[in-house]
Amino acid sequence: MKRREFFETIGLATVAVGVAGSIPGISCSSKRVTTEKGMNVKFEVKRLNLTHTWTISRNSSNYKDDVFVYLEKDGIIGIGEAAPNIRYNETPESTIEVIKKSIPLFEKCNPWEYVQLSYDIKSLTTAQTAAKAALDIALMDWIGKALNIPLYRLWGLDHTKLPLTSFSIGIDTPEVVKQKTREAAPYKILKVKVGKKNDKELIEAVRSVAPDKLIRVDANEGWKDKEIAIKEIEWLMKNGVEFIEQPMPSEMLEETRWLRDRVEVPIIADEAVKTASDIPKLAEAYDGINIKIMKAGGLQEALRMIWLAKSLNMKIMIGCMIESSVGVSAAAQLSSLIDYADLDGNLLISNDPYEGVKVIDGKLVLSDRPGIGVKEV
Ligand code: MG
Repeated sequence: MKRREFFETIGLATVAVGVAGSIPGISCSSKRVTTEKGMNVKFEVKRLNLTHTWTISRNSSNYKDDVFVYLEKDGIIGIGEAAPNIRYNETPESTIEVIKKSIPLFEKCNPWEYVQLSYDIKSLTTAQTAAKAALDIALMDWIGKALNIPLYRLWGLDHTKLPLTSFSIGIDTPEVVKQKTREAAPYKILKVKVGKKNDKELIEAVRSVAPDKLIRVDANEGWKDKEIAIKEIEWLMKNGVEFIEQPMPSEMLEETRWLRDRVEVPIIADEAVKTASDIPKLAEAYDGINIKIMKAGGLQEALRMIWLAKSLNMKIMIGCMIESSVGVSAAAQLSSLIDYADLDGNLLISNDPYEGVKVIDGKLVLSDRPGIGVKEV
């Protein structure tokens, strides 16, 4: 397909699934998958509307503008998504800048060299990992589609052993928190956002509706003082929480280590960890890490993080930002390797443009479609 035709048809594109693929050098049976170099890059911004106003300790929003990336070659289109996060100085504009910068790289790339390409994507610019994640997701989606296998197959993972996912309850008034807890009835685990002044009120509101449900707590760096943090955590422990995520600001490593030595629930790093290189220094202060594809800069870096965290005996969680089924289904491909899943970003929006991973009886269920396993709604 010529570049212009691709741009004209992308909106209506039918992805060529079911095409027999080939890896040059391994088998060459396909007529449609060529060894010619180059991929076409396209992107667009889609506004994802949130079912409820989303408030965490940092900010509040009613929608999220995510950037979707399409990599095309041989009539096969790999889809990726970037969920830019202001916490990491990312906006849709800064994301688009990186995607534009990647065009010369993809114009001359061989997608089958996808491991090397993951490092080339990483080298495009410093930071801006959401943009890099979109490119890597689209690349790996293309690989899976060209081979006609889901990515969990490519990586040799057991898709029948997937964890339950938690459903997130953002900070709100006790009445709205109660309502959100009622709406979350199908999910067996709740992740409650705390870190403002009304933590106890919120947990009590959740407990009034769901007295026995498993609760995880995410403070999003909200407690700035270790003495306050320990008091909050001691109270939360009495109210049955499974773990505490990012209790204090990421730079307060010493204070977090102090806290961890004094509490019995696991302390999980989120904002403190982005890529594999962050992990070794965190092993002394945290029991586990929350990997997000958007922070990692892609599925391939997330996989490297999983191996490293496992070698340090750390617990592994996979989480997400506010993302459509593209980002969430991509992350879910790795979920048989982890201890905790928090893959609910697509469940918090009302206009998901794609469908992919499902939550059935609280548990993640992957589709057997190739690549990241999504289709347009
Ligand atoms: Mg978090």
